[in-house]
Amino acid sequence: MAAAHEPVIVVGGGIGGLAAALALARKGLRSRVLEQAPEFKEIGAGIQLGPNVFKMFARLGLTDAISRMAWFPDRLVMMDCVTAAEVTRITIGKDFLDHFKFPYALIHRADLHQAILEACRQCGMVELETLRKVTGAAERGGGVAVTLADGGTIEGAALIGADGLWSTVRGIIANDGAPRVSGHIAYRAVLASEEVPERLRLGSMVIWAGEKTHLVHYPLRSGEITNLVAVFHSNRYEEGWDSYGDPAELHERFAGTCEEVRTMLGKIEQWRMWVLCDREPIKIWSRGRMTLLGDAAHPMLQYLAQGACMAIEDAVCLADKVVERQGDFAAAFGDYQSTRYLRTGRVQVMARVYGEIYHAAGVTRELRNQWLGARTPQEGMAGMEWLYGGPDFA
Ligand SMILES: Cc1cc2nc3c(=O)[nH]c(=O)nc-3n(C[C@H](O)[C@H](O)[C@H](O)COP(=O)(O)OP(=O)(O)OC[C@H]3O[C@@H](n4cnc5c(N)ncnc54)[C@H](O)[C@@H]3O)c2cc1C
Repeated sequence: MAAAHEPVIVVGGGIGGLAAALALARKGLRSRVLEQAPEFKEIGAGIQLGPNVFKMFARLGLTDAISRMAWFPDRLVMMDCVTAAEVTRITIGKDFLDHFKFPYALIHRADLHQAILEACRQCGMVELETLRKVTGAAERGGGVAVTLADGGTIEGAALIGADGLWSTVRGIIANDGAPRVSGHIAYRAVLASEEVPERLRLGSMVIWAGEKTHLVHYPLRSGEITNLVAVFHSNRYEEGWDSYGDPAELHERFAGTCEEVRTMLGKIEQWRMWVLCDREPIKIWSRGRMTLLGDAAHPMLQYLAQGACMAIEDAVCLADKVVERQGDFAAAFGDYQSTRYLRTGRVQVMARVYGEIYHAAGVTRELRNQWLGARTPQEGMAGMEWLYGGPDFA
Protein backbone atom coordinates (compact mmCIF):
# COMPACT_ATOMS: atom_id res chain seq x y z
CA MET A 1 0.00 0.00 0.00
CA ALA A 2 3.07 2.29 -0.21
CA ALA A 3 1.64 4.07 -3.22
CA ALA A 4 -1.16 5.56 -1.12
CA HIS A 5 1.43 7.78 0.56
CA GLU A 6 3.00 8.88 -2.72
CA PRO A 7 2.15 12.27 -4.25
CA VAL A 8 -0.86 12.53 -6.57
CA ILE A 9 0.15 12.38 -10.23
CA VAL A 10 -1.21 15.16 -12.44
CA VAL A 11 -0.80 14.52 -16.17
CA GLY A 12 -0.50 17.86 -18.01
CA GLY A 13 0.83 21.21 -16.86
CA GLY A 14 -1.68 23.51 -18.55
CA ILE A 15 -3.99 25.82 -16.63
CA GLY A 16 -6.12 22.90 -15.40
CA GLY A 17 -3.27 20.64 -14.29
CA LEU A 18 -1.45 23.39 -12.42
CA ALA A 19 -4.69 24.58 -10.79
CA ALA A 20 -5.33 21.00 -9.61
CA ALA A 21 -1.82 20.75 -8.14
CA LEU A 22 -2.25 24.10 -6.38
CA ALA A 23 -5.71 23.24 -5.04
CA LEU A 24 -4.33 19.97 -3.59
CA ALA A 25 -1.34 21.83 -2.12
CA ARG A 26 -3.67 24.30 -0.39
CA LYS A 27 -5.16 21.24 1.36
CA GLY A 28 -1.73 19.89 2.33
CA LEU A 29 -1.50 17.25 -0.41
CA ARG A 30 1.63 16.73 -2.50
CA SER A 31 1.58 16.21 -6.26
CA ARG A 32 3.84 15.60 -9.26
CA VAL A 33 2.87 17.41 -12.45
CA LEU A 34 4.08 15.53 -15.54
CA GLU A 35 4.22 17.77 -18.62
CA GLN A 36 5.21 16.43 -22.03
CA ALA A 37 6.62 19.76 -23.31
CA PRO A 38 10.20 20.92 -22.61
CA GLU A 39 8.87 23.81 -20.51
CA PHE A 40 5.74 24.92 -18.69
CA LYS A 41 4.28 27.41 -21.12
CA GLU A 42 0.94 28.58 -22.56
CA ILE A 43 0.37 29.38 -26.20
CA GLY A 44 -2.32 31.68 -27.55
CA ALA A 45 -3.14 35.13 -26.28
CA GLY A 46 -6.11 36.40 -24.32
CA ILE A 47 -8.52 34.68 -22.02
CA GLN A 48 -11.69 35.97 -20.42
CA LEU A 49 -12.32 35.36 -16.74
CA GLY A 50 -15.91 35.33 -15.51
CA PRO A 51 -16.89 36.17 -11.90
CA ASN A 52 -17.27 32.45 -11.22
CA VAL A 53 -13.53 31.87 -11.59
CA PHE A 54 -12.67 34.83 -9.37
CA LYS A 55 -14.56 32.99 -6.64
CA MET A 56 -12.05 30.15 -7.22
CA PHE A 57 -9.06 32.52 -7.22
CA ALA A 58 -10.14 33.63 -3.76
CA ARG A 59 -10.08 29.99 -2.63
CA LEU A 60 -6.66 29.40 -4.20
CA GLY A 61 -5.05 32.59 -2.87
CA LEU A 62 -4.54 33.91 -6.41
CA THR A 63 -6.76 37.01 -6.44
CA ASP A 64 -3.98 39.58 -5.97
CA ALA A 65 -1.58 37.99 -8.46
CA ILE A 66 -4.28 37.76 -11.13
CA SER A 67 -5.69 41.21 -10.46
CA ARG A 68 -2.26 42.81 -10.87
CA MET A 69 -1.99 41.47 -14.42
CA ALA A 70 -5.58 41.51 -15.61
CA TRP A 71 -7.50 44.16 -17.52
CA PHE A 72 -10.91 44.95 -16.07
CA PRO A 73 -13.23 45.94 -18.92
CA ASP A 74 -15.97 48.52 -18.46
CA ARG A 75 -18.49 46.51 -20.50
CA LEU A 76 -19.12 43.45 -22.64
CA VAL A 77 -20.56 44.65 -25.93
CA MET A 78 -22.15 42.81 -28.84
CA MET A 79 -22.09 44.62 -32.20
CA ASP A 80 -23.70 43.50 -35.45
CA CYS A 81 -20.88 42.48 -37.79
CA VAL A 82 -22.84 43.52 -40.89
CA THR A 83 -24.47 46.85 -39.92
CA ALA A 84 -21.96 47.93 -37.22
CA ALA A 85 -24.90 48.74 -34.89
CA GLU A 86 -24.72 47.89 -31.20
CA VAL A 87 -26.92 44.89 -30.34
CA THR A 88 -26.58 44.69 -26.56
CA ARG A 89 -24.19 45.30 -23.69
CA ILE A 90 -23.54 44.26 -20.12
CA THR A 91 -21.97 47.09 -18.12
CA ILE A 92 -19.35 45.89 -15.66
CA GLY A 93 -19.97 48.46 -12.98
CA LYS A 94 -21.33 48.61 -9.47
CA ASP A 95 -24.55 46.76 -10.37
CA PHE A 96 -22.56 43.89 -11.88
CA LEU A 97 -20.31 43.64 -8.83
CA ASP A 98 -23.25 43.88 -6.43
CA HIS A 99 -25.01 41.13 -8.37
CA PHE A 100 -22.19 38.64 -8.90
CA LYS A 101 -19.87 39.68 -6.02
CA PHE A 102 -16.79 39.10 -8.20
CA PRO A 103 -15.40 40.99 -11.23
CA TYR A 104 -14.99 40.15 -14.91
CA ALA A 105 -11.47 40.36 -16.35
CA LEU A 106 -9.33 39.81 -19.43
CA ILE A 107 -5.84 38.38 -19.11
CA HIS A 108 -3.00 37.09 -21.25
CA ARG A 109 -3.06 33.33 -20.85
CA ALA A 110 0.69 33.26 -20.31
CA ASP A 111 0.14 35.58 -17.30
CA LEU A 112 -2.64 33.38 -15.88
CA HIS A 113 -0.55 30.25 -16.36
CA GLN A 114 2.51 31.96 -14.85
CA ALA A 115 0.58 33.10 -11.78
CA ILE A 116 -0.59 29.54 -11.04
CA LEU A 117 2.87 28.11 -11.84
CA GLU A 118 4.53 30.58 -9.48
CA ALA A 119 2.09 29.72 -6.69
CA CYS A 120 2.86 26.01 -7.27
CA ARG A 121 6.60 26.71 -7.05
CA GLN A 122 6.24 28.75 -3.88
CA CYS A 123 4.04 26.32 -1.96
CA GLY A 124 6.74 23.64 -1.83
CA MET A 125 4.21 20.83 -2.34
CA VAL A 126 4.34 20.44 -6.14
CA GLU A 127 7.05 18.73 -8.19
CA LEU A 128 7.06 20.19 -11.70
CA GLU A 129 8.52 17.84 -14.30
CA THR A 130 8.95 18.52 -18.01
CA LEU A 131 9.62 16.12 -20.92
CA ARG A 132 7.37 13.56 -19.23
CA LYS A 133 4.99 12.29 -21.90
CA VAL A 134 2.52 9.87 -20.35
CA THR A 135 1.53 6.95 -22.57
CA GLY A 136 -0.34 4.68 -20.18
CA ALA A 137 -1.89 4.53 -16.71
CA ALA A 138 -3.44 1.90 -14.47
CA GLU A 139 -4.39 1.35 -10.86
CA ARG A 140 -1.76 -0.67 -9.08
CA GLY A 141 -1.88 -1.88 -5.48
CA GLY A 142 -3.21 0.96 -3.35
CA GLY A 143 -2.28 3.61 -5.93
CA VAL A 144 -1.61 4.18 -9.61
CA ALA A 145 1.27 3.72 -12.03
CA VAL A 146 1.85 5.68 -15.22
CA THR A 147 4.13 4.71 -18.05
CA LEU A 148 6.15 7.29 -19.94
CA ALA A 149 7.16 7.55 -23.59
CA ASP A 150 10.81 7.05 -22.55
CA GLY A 151 9.90 3.69 -21.03
CA GLY A 152 9.95 4.85 -17.40
CA THR A 153 7.25 4.26 -14.79
CA ILE A 154 6.07 6.60 -12.05
CA GLU A 155 3.86 5.60 -9.14
CA GLY A 156 1.49 7.79 -7.22
CA ALA A 157 -1.44 7.74 -4.83
CA ALA A 158 -3.95 8.74 -7.51
CA LEU A 159 -4.05 10.19 -11.01
CA ILE A 160 -5.60 13.33 -12.48
CA GLY A 161 -5.66 13.44 -16.27
CA ALA A 162 -5.46 17.14 -17.14
CA ASP A 163 -3.96 16.46 -20.54
CA GLY A 164 -6.34 18.52 -22.63
CA LEU A 165 -8.56 17.98 -25.65
CA TRP A 166 -6.52 15.08 -27.09
CA SER A 167 -6.18 13.42 -23.68
CA THR A 168 -4.36 10.10 -23.42
CA VAL A 169 -5.82 9.50 -19.95
CA ARG A 170 -9.38 9.93 -21.30
CA GLY A 171 -8.65 7.14 -23.75
CA ILE A 172 -7.85 4.90 -20.78
CA ILE A 173 -10.79 5.94 -18.58
CA ALA A 174 -13.61 6.67 -21.05
CA ASN A 175 -12.29 5.22 -24.33
CA ASP A 176 -14.80 7.22 -26.37
CA GLY A 177 -12.80 8.02 -29.48
CA ALA A 178 -11.68 11.34 -30.90
CA PRO A 179 -13.23 14.75 -30.17
CA ARG A 180 -15.94 16.17 -32.46
CA VAL A 181 -14.68 18.59 -35.09
CA SER A 182 -17.14 21.50 -35.05
CA GLY A 183 -16.45 22.91 -38.52
CA HIS A 184 -15.58 26.25 -36.87
CA ILE A 185 -12.07 27.68 -37.15
CA ALA A 186 -10.51 30.32 -34.87
CA TYR A 187 -7.72 32.64 -35.97
CA ARG A 188 -5.95 34.39 -33.13
CA ALA A 189 -3.47 37.23 -33.02
CA VAL A 190 -2.25 40.07 -30.83
CA LEU A 191 -1.90 43.63 -32.08
CA ALA A 192 -0.14 46.65 -30.54
CA SER A 193 -3.08 48.77 -29.33
CA GLU A 194 -1.66 51.87 -31.04
CA GLU A 195 -2.39 50.04 -34.32
CA VAL A 196 -6.09 49.81 -33.46
CA PRO A 197 -8.14 52.63 -35.03
CA GLU A 198 -8.91 55.22 -32.35
CA ARG A 199 -12.71 54.75 -32.52
CA LEU A 200 -12.29 51.02 -31.86
CA ARG A 201 -9.77 51.45 -29.04
CA LEU A 202 -12.25 50.76 -26.28
CA GLY A 203 -11.64 49.46 -22.80
CA SER A 204 -14.27 46.81 -23.43
CA MET A 205 -14.65 43.22 -24.56
CA VAL A 206 -16.27 43.61 -27.98
CA ILE A 207 -17.82 40.85 -30.05
CA TRP A 208 -18.83 41.59 -33.63
CA ALA A 209 -21.44 38.93 -34.35
CA GLY A 210 -21.84 38.25 -38.05
CA GLU A 211 -23.17 35.72 -40.51
CA LYS A 212 -21.29 32.46 -39.89
CA THR A 213 -18.43 34.61 -38.59
CA HIS A 214 -17.55 36.66 -35.56
CA LEU A 215 -14.67 38.75 -34.31
CA VAL A 216 -13.78 39.32 -30.67
CA HIS A 217 -11.30 41.95 -29.54
CA TYR A 218 -10.24 43.28 -26.17
CA PRO A 219 -7.27 44.92 -24.47
CA LEU A 220 -4.70 42.97 -22.49
CA ARG A 221 -2.06 43.81 -19.92
CA SER A 222 -2.24 47.57 -19.25
CA GLY A 223 -4.00 48.06 -22.54
CA GLU A 224 -0.81 48.10 -24.59
CA ILE A 225 -1.86 45.09 -26.64
CA THR A 226 -5.17 44.03 -28.16
CA ASN A 227 -6.29 40.42 -28.46
CA LEU A 228 -8.15 39.35 -31.61
CA VAL A 229 -10.07 36.13 -32.21
CA ALA A 230 -11.76 35.74 -35.61
CA VAL A 231 -14.03 32.71 -36.04
CA PHE A 232 -15.67 31.39 -39.20
CA HIS A 233 -17.18 28.22 -40.61
CA SER A 234 -14.93 26.08 -42.77
CA ASN A 235 -14.85 22.51 -43.97
CA ARG A 236 -11.10 22.57 -43.84
CA TYR A 237 -9.95 20.14 -41.23
CA GLU A 238 -6.52 19.70 -39.77
CA GLU A 239 -6.34 17.68 -36.64
CA GLY A 240 -4.47 19.47 -33.94
CA TRP A 241 -4.01 22.77 -32.38
CA ASP A 242 -2.15 25.92 -33.13
CA SER A 243 -0.93 26.02 -36.71
CA TYR A 244 -0.60 29.11 -38.93
CA GLY A 245 -3.73 30.53 -40.54
CA ASP A 246 -4.27 31.63 -44.14
CA PRO A 247 -5.18 35.38 -44.21
CA ALA A 248 -6.67 35.04 -47.73
CA GLU A 249 -9.25 32.52 -46.45
CA LEU A 250 -10.04 34.78 -43.50
CA HIS A 251 -10.63 37.87 -45.66
CA GLU A 252 -12.83 35.87 -48.02
CA ARG A 253 -15.00 34.65 -45.12
CA PHE A 254 -15.32 38.17 -43.66
CA ALA A 255 -15.93 39.88 -47.03
CA GLY A 256 -19.54 40.75 -46.16
CA THR A 257 -18.76 42.38 -42.82
CA CYS A 258 -18.66 46.07 -41.91
CA GLU A 259 -15.68 48.32 -42.51
CA GLU A 260 -14.69 48.37 -38.79
CA VAL A 261 -14.26 44.60 -38.74
CA ARG A 262 -12.38 44.44 -42.03
CA THR A 263 -10.07 47.23 -40.85
CA MET A 264 -9.19 45.31 -37.70
CA LEU A 265 -8.58 42.08 -39.60
CA GLY A 266 -6.42 43.90 -42.15
CA LYS A 267 -4.00 44.95 -39.42
CA ILE A 268 -2.77 41.41 -38.80
CA GLU A 269 -0.28 39.67 -41.05
CA GLN A 270 0.28 36.48 -39.13
CA TRP A 271 -2.52 34.50 -37.53
CA ARG A 272 -2.46 31.26 -35.61
CA MET A 273 -5.24 28.85 -36.33
CA TRP A 274 -7.23 26.50 -34.09
CA VAL A 275 -9.62 23.86 -35.41
CA LEU A 276 -12.37 24.05 -32.79
CA CYS A 277 -13.54 20.76 -31.31
CA ASP A 278 -15.67 19.63 -28.41
CA ARG A 279 -17.36 16.46 -27.18
CA GLU A 280 -20.76 15.33 -26.01
CA PRO A 281 -21.00 15.69 -22.22
CA ILE A 282 -20.44 12.46 -20.25
CA LYS A 283 -21.13 11.74 -16.59
CA ILE A 284 -18.50 9.09 -15.87
CA TRP A 285 -15.01 10.46 -16.12
CA SER A 286 -13.38 8.66 -13.18
CA ARG A 287 -12.32 5.08 -12.71
CA GLY A 288 -11.17 4.14 -9.21
CA ARG A 289 -8.21 6.34 -8.33
CA MET A 290 -8.01 7.91 -11.76
CA THR A 291 -10.02 10.91 -12.96
CA LEU A 292 -10.11 13.64 -15.60
CA LEU A 293 -10.15 17.42 -15.28
CA GLY A 294 -10.55 20.42 -17.60
CA ASP A 295 -10.61 19.89 -21.36
CA ALA A 296 -9.76 16.20 -20.89
CA ALA A 297 -13.09 15.75 -19.06
CA HIS A 298 -15.39 18.22 -20.84
CA PRO A 299 -13.91 19.94 -23.89
CA MET A 300 -16.16 22.76 -25.02
CA LEU A 301 -16.36 25.33 -27.78
CA GLN A 302 -15.06 28.71 -26.61
CA TYR A 303 -18.28 30.68 -27.19
CA LEU A 304 -18.95 31.15 -23.48
CA ALA A 305 -15.24 31.79 -22.76
CA GLN A 306 -15.29 29.24 -19.96
CA GLY A 307 -12.97 26.28 -20.71
CA ALA A 308 -10.18 27.45 -18.43
CA CYS A 309 -12.66 28.79 -15.86
CA MET A 310 -14.31 25.34 -15.68
CA ALA A 311 -10.92 23.62 -15.32
CA ILE A 312 -10.12 25.86 -12.33
CA GLU A 313 -13.55 25.22 -10.80
CA ASP A 314 -12.87 21.47 -11.26
CA ALA A 315 -9.57 21.81 -9.42
CA VAL A 316 -11.07 23.46 -6.34
CA CYS A 317 -13.98 21.00 -6.23
CA LEU A 318 -11.72 17.97 -6.59
CA ALA A 319 -9.44 19.05 -3.72
CA ASP A 320 -12.47 19.73 -1.50
CA LYS A 321 -13.77 16.21 -2.15
CA VAL A 322 -10.42 14.57 -1.40
CA VAL A 323 -10.41 16.26 2.00
CA GLU A 324 -14.09 15.46 2.67
CA ARG A 325 -13.38 11.79 1.90
CA GLN A 326 -10.22 11.88 4.03
CA GLY A 327 -7.95 10.73 1.24
CA ASP A 328 -10.19 7.95 -0.14
CA PHE A 329 -9.45 8.97 -3.73
CA ALA A 330 -11.90 6.62 -5.43
CA ALA A 331 -14.81 7.91 -3.33
CA ALA A 332 -13.63 11.52 -3.70
CA PHE A 333 -13.36 11.26 -7.50
CA GLY A 334 -16.87 9.78 -7.64
CA ASP A 335 -18.21 12.73 -5.61
CA TYR A 336 -16.23 15.18 -7.74
CA GLN A 337 -17.64 13.99 -11.06
CA SER A 338 -21.18 13.85 -9.62
CA THR A 339 -20.84 17.45 -8.42
CA ARG A 340 -19.40 18.70 -11.68
CA TYR A 341 -20.89 16.91 -14.68
CA LEU A 342 -24.21 18.77 -14.97
CA ARG A 343 -22.58 22.18 -14.68
CA THR A 344 -19.76 21.45 -17.13
CA GLY A 345 -22.19 19.60 -19.44
CA ARG A 346 -24.47 22.64 -19.45
CA VAL A 347 -21.55 24.87 -20.48
CA GLN A 348 -20.61 22.39 -23.25
CA VAL A 349 -24.17 22.40 -24.60
CA MET A 350 -24.80 26.13 -24.14
CA ALA A 351 -21.48 27.02 -25.79
CA ARG A 352 -22.83 25.43 -28.98
CA VAL A 353 -26.05 27.45 -28.63
CA TYR A 354 -24.07 30.68 -28.19
CA GLY A 355 -22.10 29.79 -31.32
CA GLU A 356 -25.41 29.65 -33.22
CA ILE A 357 -26.43 33.02 -31.77
CA TYR A 358 -23.12 34.69 -32.66
CA HIS A 359 -23.22 33.28 -36.19
CA ALA A 360 -26.92 33.83 -36.97
CA ALA A 361 -27.60 34.81 -40.59
CA GLY A 362 -30.44 36.51 -42.46
CA VAL A 363 -33.77 36.80 -40.65
CA THR A 364 -32.40 34.81 -37.71
CA ARG A 365 -29.75 37.50 -37.30
CA GLU A 366 -32.40 40.22 -37.25
CA LEU A 367 -34.45 38.27 -34.72
CA ARG A 368 -31.36 37.84 -32.55
CA ASN A 369 -30.71 41.57 -32.60
CA GLN A 370 -34.33 42.34 -31.76
CA TRP A 371 -34.45 39.81 -28.94
CA LEU A 372 -31.11 40.68 -27.33
CA GLY A 373 -31.51 44.41 -27.95
CA ALA A 374 -34.80 44.45 -26.00
CA ARG A 375 -33.23 43.08 -22.81
CA THR A 376 -32.85 45.35 -19.79
CA PRO A 377 -29.44 45.33 -18.00
CA GLN A 378 -31.08 43.33 -15.19
CA GLU A 379 -32.36 40.75 -17.66
CA GLY A 380 -28.88 40.57 -19.22
CA MET A 381 -27.33 39.75 -15.84
CA ALA A 382 -30.14 37.36 -14.89
CA GLY A 383 -29.46 35.44 -18.12
CA MET A 384 -25.88 34.78 -16.97
CA GLU A 385 -26.77 33.93 -13.35
CA TRP A 386 -26.54 30.15 -13.86
CA LEU A 387 -22.94 30.55 -15.02
CA TYR A 388 -21.43 33.60 -13.32
CA GLY A 389 -23.33 33.04 -10.08
CA GLY A 390 -21.83 29.56 -9.62
CA PRO A 391 -20.41 27.17 -8.80
CA ASP A 392 -22.70 25.94 -6.03
CA PHE A 393 -20.10 23.90 -4.16
CA ALA A 394 -18.02 26.95 -3.20
C1 LIG B 1 -9.99 30.29 -29.39
C2 LIG B 1 -10.13 29.91 -27.94
C3 LIG B 1 -10.48 30.88 -27.00
C4 LIG B 1 -10.66 30.52 -25.67
N1 LIG B 1 -11.04 31.48 -24.77
C5 LIG B 1 -11.26 31.15 -23.49
C6 LIG B 1 -11.67 32.13 -22.55
O1 LIG B 1 -11.81 33.31 -22.90
N2 LIG B 1 -11.89 31.75 -21.25
C7 LIG B 1 -11.71 30.45 -20.84
O2 LIG B 1 -11.93 30.17 -19.65
N3 LIG B 1 -11.32 29.49 -21.71
C8 LIG B 1 -11.09 29.81 -23.02
N4 LIG B 1 -10.69 28.85 -23.90
C9 LIG B 1 -10.56 27.44 -23.44
C10 LIG B 1 -9.27 27.20 -22.70
O3 LIG B 1 -8.16 27.62 -23.47
C11 LIG B 1 -9.12 25.70 -22.39
O4 LIG B 1 -10.34 25.20 -21.94
C12 LIG B 1 -8.08 25.49 -21.29
O5 LIG B 1 -6.84 26.01 -21.69
C13 LIG B 1 -7.96 23.99 -21.00
O6 LIG B 1 -6.95 23.79 -20.05
P1 LIG B 1 -6.45 22.31 -19.71
O7 LIG B 1 -5.36 22.50 -18.72
O8 LIG B 1 -7.61 21.45 -19.40
O9 LIG B 1 -5.86 21.77 -21.10
P2 LIG B 1 -4.61 22.27 -21.96
O10 LIG B 1 -4.44 23.74 -21.86
O11 LIG B 1 -4.77 21.67 -23.30
O12 LIG B 1 -3.35 21.62 -21.23
C14 LIG B 1 -3.04 20.26 -21.36
C15 LIG B 1 -1.56 20.07 -21.05
O13 LIG B 1 -1.29 18.68 -21.02
C16 LIG B 1 -0.10 18.41 -21.73
N5 LIG B 1 -0.19 17.04 -22.22
C17 LIG B 1 -1.02 16.55 -23.18
N6 LIG B 1 -0.86 15.23 -23.33
C18 LIG B 1 0.10 14.86 -22.43
C19 LIG B 1 0.70 13.61 -22.11
N7 LIG B 1 0.34 12.47 -22.72
N8 LIG B 1 1.65 13.58 -21.14
C20 LIG B 1 2.01 14.72 -20.48
N9 LIG B 1 1.48 15.94 -20.77
C21 LIG B 1 0.52 16.00 -21.73
C22 LIG B 1 -0.07 19.46 -22.84
O14 LIG B 1 1.23 19.67 -23.35
C23 LIG B 1 -0.62 20.68 -22.10
O15 LIG B 1 0.39 21.42 -21.45
C24 LIG B 1 -10.48 29.18 -25.25
C25 LIG B 1 -10.09 28.20 -26.19
C26 LIG B 1 -9.91 28.57 -27.52
C27 LIG B 1 -9.51 27.52 -28.51
